[in-house]
Amino acid sequence: MPRKGVLTVISGFSGVGKGTIVKKLVSEHDEYAVSVSATTRNPRPGEENGRDYFFLTNEAFESMIKDDGLIEYAKYVDHYYGTPRAYVERKLSEGKDVILEIDAQGALQIKKQYPDALLIFIVPPTADVLRERLKGRGTEDADTIKDRLSRAAEETAYIKNYEYVVVNDDLERAVLDVHTVIQSAHMRLGNNDEFLTILSQQIKNKFEV
Ligand code: 5GP
Repeated sequence: MPRKGVLTVISGFSGVGKGTIVKKLVSEHDEYAVSVSATTRNPRPGEENGRDYFFLTNEAFESMIKDDGLIEYAKYVDHYYGTPRAYVERKLSEGKDVILEIDAQGALQIKKQYPDALLIFIVPPTADVLRERLKGRGTEDADTIKDRLSRAAEETAYIKNYEYVVVNDDLERAVLDVHTVIQSAHMRLGNNDEFLTILSQQIKNKFEV
């Protein structure tokens, strides 16, 4: 039976550690494919074009929107972010579990287009931990940190749109929780339509009296 890939959206407040969770998950398991987003924000030190993001000009981003090259996009603190369509569709058709690390606006757009998509929200154990992690990352200045924390306050309103919440207190635990949720989705009825139709038919053919 061909395996149907599960499309998973992972969101969470800036600094919560979702990037670290996704990297660890992917390094430990082969079945995952992580989409690389396009953005108009500047690269942070150490970020690479094509690996962390496709860093685009406003013009290039807007022409991708026009050409229907993105399955979703959003503006987050003054910059565009979006998910290129081709990679996601190809990997899903290959049976990979595709992970999108995107914000809450994007998550809603994905759920509309892919009703079977799994929506996971990552939270910190406390508000203070969130601030300390964001500061400790050392990649943003004080004003950007302030913007991102106030954005987190707004984002609390979106949590209700998600299906699962994972607390990132202990990294290993959080990675295992995300993996467990995604792998359970393979057992949803909706992900086994074809198999169940064939099996039910076989059982009826063989045993119906
Ligand atoms: P950062 O600038 O910290 O890399 O990302 C800022 C926010 O943009 C994060 O919440 C991240 O999940 C979100 N984001 C990253 N890529 C995408 C994308 O392709 N689409 C949407 N909607 N949000 C994204």
